[in-house]
Amino acid sequence: MTEPLELKKTVNLPKTDFAQKANLGQSEPARLKKWADAKLYEQIRESRKDAVKFILHDGPPYANADIHIGTALNKILKDFVVKTRTMMGFDAPYVPGYDCHGLPIETHVEKKLAEKGKNKNDLPVSTFRKICREHAARAMDGQTRDFSRLGILGEWENPYLTMSNDYEAETARLFGRFLERGYVYKGLRPVYWCVHDQTALAEAEVEYKEHTSPSIYVKFPLKSDAGSIDENLKGKNVFIVIWTTTPWTLPANLGIAVHPDFDYSALQANGEVYIVASELAKSFAELCGLDGAKELARFKGSKLDRLEAKHAWLDQTSLIMNGEHVSLGEADAETELDVRFENKAAGKSGTGCVHTAPGHGADDFAIGKRYGLEVYCPVDNGGKFTAEVEHFAGEFIFKANPRIVEFLRESGALLYTENYNHRYPHCWRCKKPVIFRATPQWFITMDDVVMKDGQADADATPLRAGALREVEQVNWHPNWGAGRMRNMISGRPDWCVSRQRSWGVPIPVFYCNGCDEAVADAKIVSHVADIFQRETADAWYNRESKDLLPDDFKCPKCGAADFTKETDILDVWFDSGSSCVAVLETRDNLQFPADVYLEGGDQFRGWFNSSLMCGLAAHDQSPYKNLITHGWVVDGEGRQMHKSTGNAVSPNEVVQKSGAEVLRLWAAAVDYTEDMRCSDEILSRIVDAYRKFRNTLRYALGNLDGFNSESDAVAFSEMLEIDRWALAELDGLVGKVLDGYEEYNFQTAYQTIYNFVTVTLSARYFDIIKDRLYIYAPKSVERRSAQTALYEIADKLCRLLAPILVFTTDEAWENLPHRKLESVHLAEFPKVSGADNSTLLADWERLFSIRDEVLKQLEEVRNAKVIGSSLEAKVILTVDKPTTKFLIAYYEDLRYLFIVSQVEVHEGDALHVEILKADGAKCERCWNYSVHIGESEKYPTVCERCVRALSEIERSATA
Ligand SMILES: [Zn+2]
Ligand SMILES: [Zn+2]
Ligand SMILES: [Zn+2]
Repeated sequence: MTEPLELKKTVNLPKTDFAQKANLGQSEPARLKKWADAKLYEQIRESRKDAVKFILHDGPPYANADIHIGTALNKILKDFVVKTRTMMGFDAPYVPGYDCHGLPIETHVEKKLAEKGKNKNDLPVSTFRKICREHAARAMDGQTRDFSRLGILGEWENPYLTMSNDYEAETARLFGRFLERGYVYKGLRPVYWCVHDQTALAEAEVEYKEHTSPSIYVKFPLKSDAGSIDENLKGKNVFIVIWTTTPWTLPANLGIAVHPDFDYSALQANGEVYIVASELAKSFAELCGLDGAKELARFKGSKLDRLEAKHAWLDQTSLIMNGEHVSLGEADAETELDVRFENKAAGKSGTGCVHTAPGHGADDFAIGKRYGLEVYCPVDNGGKFTAEVEHFAGEFIFKANPRIVEFLRESGALLYTENYNHRYPHCWRCKKPVIFRATPQWFITMDDVVMKDGQADADATPLRAGALREVEQVNWHPNWGAGRMRNMISGRPDWCVSRQRSWGVPIPVFYCNGCDEAVADAKIVSHVADIFQRETADAWYNRESKDLLPDDFKCPKCGAADFTKETDILDVWFDSGSSCVAVLETRDNLQFPADVYLEGGDQFRGWFNSSLMCGLAAHDQSPYKNLITHGWVVDGEGRQMHKSTGNAVSPNEVVQKSGAEVLRLWAAAVDYTEDMRCSDEILSRIVDAYRKFRNTLRYALGNLDGFNSESDAVAFSEMLEIDRWALAELDGLVGKVLDGYEEYNFQTAYQTIYNFVTVTLSARYFDIIKDRLYIYAPKSVERRSAQTALYEIADKLCRLLAPILVFTTDEAWENLPHRKLESVHLAEFPKVSGADNSTLLADWERLFSIRDEVLKQLEEVRNAKVIGSSLEAKVILTVDKPTTKFLIAYYEDLRYLFIVSQVEVHEGDALHVEILKADGAKCERCWNYSVHIGESEKYPTVCERCVRALSEIERSATA
């Protein structure tokens, strides 16, 4: 007989190198280095080289500032998409990009120059561009460091840059493509204009903010014979009353628009007659204090068509016109993407007679064009009235506003004024209010195909129609995106693509010095683009026009050989929109169209929109098949984050303090389709959740010490039933999580895994099998059965969580015994077994509901200090007849299920639980109570189950 074993050493305590404390602040950078050294990203590419491609195309963040929580979230969501598709078996390369040109960098560089007492205009453009280029490169390096720190794998060494030679050349070529198809024209029409930055702005470059404007009612004397409108008005002193919130646009007034189908009233008061829309007549009379106003006549707006009024103070005629755009309802500039923000009659405040200045409004421009009005804009680049404006020449328009109101009051033309609060567009850069102003600009037409030499591209569809067609082809996530995009496209004006700046891709167009003709020709553009490809677009500024044009090029119109270069550059949204060609088609591992574009909701006006136009010009097709949008990150109370208010969460601080995993887990936990809350408190809850995931993996790994999944695994049919139940639950989990990933619904994946970890595993399975794992002989079928389940759980959880917890799952994976792949990121997702486990799952649901009842009672008894540990208890279970029958099969399992020492089942009326003190004595080894303790001579202090386990251990030691 051998010596008795030392009891303590026979208990299988967990053992793993996967530490309880994550220490992410240190371990994450170390793992990033390990991945870089092992060229993990390249290994993944190699492993998927024959797989079907899945392209997420990165919308380039602006290379100006540090990353913030919004950009961090965006990149993390993109990484979720790329990693989930990779693990689904696709070849999903990730090429990050940077938007490098544009006003923010120019402004920044100008400021830096000013600090050194220098002025941009004193430097050659190429020198200024060089400084901008260097600034963008620096900012980009910082962002690359911060983005890759978040665990995002991709071609960080080789991102695409809108300022690279290749990209600038492709941007120019795409402009040539627009020209070739007849989508480009140069015209004088009103565009957003920042008087501070002195440049045109795109729709995506303005932001709406509350603004107070003077609201004024001004009377314009009718010049035409009033008798032609109605007999009653003959010989009367008749005025048309307009309403505006931009008094400074009045000098540019050339007309008044009325709706042909609306009723208009002529109101008599104070010896004068005022024409306003009938529906607004009452509120108008009250507002202007016209007591006892009497309606002399009522007529349709069509009666007024082409009559003439006199300007309120200038020697100008104001033509009365019929326009369908005149409305009596509240205009919502922002949602309609409405550029008529200034002149549209806005609900109760208007008169239904719309002040029209074709040089200062899109609707004004359109109706003015129909009626042959001049595009008159007496405001200069800096927002000052030109010399022709009587009384106000040289004044800054916003300063002139109150003076104009005063002037109108004194001259008797003002009927009423008040302050008016409304949403008004502001410049995205300088945050100052913008204006609408007509200047000669290059436009991309939305509704026409421009005829060239009497010929238009026979295949070219007008862009608006093409875009609306493509909206129906795209999958929108969430699906309201389709409606939003449809509205944006329906409402957008022609795209103004010229900017009066220096840091960008020059518009490759020449002007003939002989006849002023613009040479805008795709072939010439292509010639210039080849030069850009060799020398960057700086060549435009470094070379003379003759050195940019093909040899011996002559003006096709007049034959002259002397040309001037265009000085405007392209809108940066044209740059970034070009990426669908400049990146997707020039990189071997990418392709057009992309599978996914994923950006914030602001990009409906920005990148989503310009990319769609570029895709249509290039290939008559949307550049994206799926479009995913996310909301904004707001603080814990749902307020906007601002550096100045101190409620902004800095991603770099979170990463340093808690680890990138916490940020990633947060990104998975929130519903990104809405605004997402983030605060220290919310993140601390995420840290708690992280611990649960980590502890779960640790439990599984700790109990797999010495387990070889190939030689030690137990066949499913041989496993204990509860272990089979755990695997059936795991199978269900895999299905639900994969469905979530398939739909880009990371929150569903997160919540499903979280519930599995906290309820199925932590509160049920792990609690119950602990005794079996610790107490049974290491190689016993009971222990091996549980280990087989744990191995599957650890392996599958690692894979399912890998796209979210990139660092932790990889660390856990390394501690998984006998793994085949070096990194979890080389693995694929587990597959759903397809087995029908419904009976098994239903039986165990029934057992667990009985267990819940028992645990409740045990808790009460323990609180009353009748027993300490639940192992001191014996459960007397009374159940009805069918349940008794059901429980018989599980009789041996019940004590382990309840974690008590003894269970008795009695048949009775309904479920009743009684808790008694367990019979017998406490086993020294397993702490269960037994009446058989002392029966073994060799091990007198342990229970019969432990005696069996110990002899099994002895046997395998001597074998
Ligand atoms: Zn500005
Ligand atoms: Zn010419
Ligand atoms: Zn025991």
